[in-house]
Amino acid sequence: MISSNNLRISLDRKESGADIDFISHAHTDHIAAAKSSKSVLASMQTIRLIEQAHNITLAQGRNEQEGFRLIEAGHMLGSRQLCIENEHLGKRVVYTGDFQMVRSKTSRPIEILDADTVIMDSTYEDPSIRFNDKNEVETAMQDWARGRLEDGIVIFGAYALGKAQELISILNDAGIRPVVSKKIGRVSGVYTNNGIKLEYLSAEEHDGDYEDALRGNFVGITETRDLQTIKAGLGMAHGKRVFTAVATGFAKVFRFNTDAQFPLSDHADFSQSIEYIEATGAREVVTYGANAEAFARNLSQKGYNSTPFRSSAFAAKAENNKYLEN
Ligand SMILES: [Zn+2]
Repeated sequence: MISSNNLRISLDRKESGADIDFISHAHTDHIAAAKSSKSVLASMQTIRLIEQAHNITLAQGRNEQEGFRLIEAGHMLGSRQLCIENEHLGKRVVYTGDFQMVRSKTSRPIEILDADTVIMDSTYEDPSIRFNDKNEVETAMQDWARGRLEDGIVIFGAYALGKAQELISILNDAGIRPVVSKKIGRVSGVYTNNGIKLEYLSAEEHDGDYEDALRGNFVGITETRDLQTIKAGLGMAHGKRVFTAVATGFAKVFRFNTDAQFPLSDHADFSQSIEYIEATGAREVVTYGANAEAFARNLSQKGYNSTPFRSSAFAAKAENNKYLEN
């Protein structure tokens, strides 16, 4: 939690005593505050996705608040960073949430502002992990899908929110209209309603085109993690070979039990995080999230003034330095 302009704001977490809960984007690990929040601050797209993909009705959702600015994070539809302006002190603090430095086919590019302090997501804290060029990853996926499609059914596993839509767009560019699960279909509907062009056949619609697609070889996208069971089930039901793959940045870190794995990430890696810090000119980096301690250590080793975020410590510091407080 941080405080500014006499308000206490939680950052992608459920914290008691918050006046406002900022939700940077609609991924499950960022929306813990949504159910019980008195007041959610998020983009309109994130509010729609929370309502339609997670079936949560928000007591109050707003996309503006005086003294705060929501700017693009490049991570997925609706993802935003929170920029906290303290005009009185002339200080600017930016909380990134999950962010991506390279362009994605299905989200707007990141916006980077000058900042005094950056509170930064720590998903990829390890300097040795470097993502491949995104165009190369996309081309490899298209080539693999086209090739396997000649011999059978192709199933991709991907997060239902964000990654699945990026995957649909990549496949569309290869002339493939994938079949998607009900949940992915619902989320994709929010994307198309927001002007993102996606061609897919959803299990929810279950119309003639969908049935026709299932009779031939097809590419499917599912959020189900157990792709081995899906492979066995589809193989039996259709009497065809089934090829599986995952599309996730964690393909750089883990070995998945699939025929192929593609490191399609919607995050910044360590070197891209440094690129971001340099672009803001921030003198202080406060690391946030699961790997905050290690990320702060790794940044300090590179000469950055970096500490992990501690809710109470940050509030106390704000009090002492009059840094974030009005
Ligand atoms: Zn995310």
